[in-house]
Amino acid sequence: MSEFNDLYMEVILDHNKNPRNNGTIDDHTNHADGHNPLCGDKVSLDLIVENNIVKDIKFTGSGCAISTASSSILTEYIVGKETSEIRHLFEEFHELVTTDNSDATNLGKLSVFEGVKKYPARVKCATLAWHTLIAAIDGDEEVSTEWAT
Ligand code: ZN
Repeated sequence: MSEFNDLYMEVILDHNKNPRNNGTIDDHTNHADGHNPLCGDKVSLDLIVENNIVKDIKFTGSGCAISTASSSILTEYIVGKETSEIRHLFEEFHELVTTDNSDATNLGKLSVFEGVKKYPARVKCATLAWHTLIAAIDGDEEVSTEWAT
């Protein structure tokens, strides 16, 4: 398991140090601000959604390494995907970080967050960007991990 932990930490620390898609989009079509009060993580997302496909996404935020890395890897992974597929991926991601019988085959690099399962207090750090993304797609401007189940 130590090999797995090393990979997990390496990828997360790299994305925390050099976040991808960090910034804002002036002519965004969708926007949401997310907050995880348990840890103090905040993330804001700007998206360009056309024909139900996420054409571009950028994030700004402040928070722990897990929340920043999750935003970075998520934004990298979902560009070009349909919103219906993204909802489905969130279900798979949520299973990955909360259950033992998950199937991560569709999650690519996002599967590094499987290690979060061992730290239940950090699950909302890893899912904050997702909750914020779904809120933005739904046209909600604000979301808190404490509003979701
Ligand atoms: Zn956090």
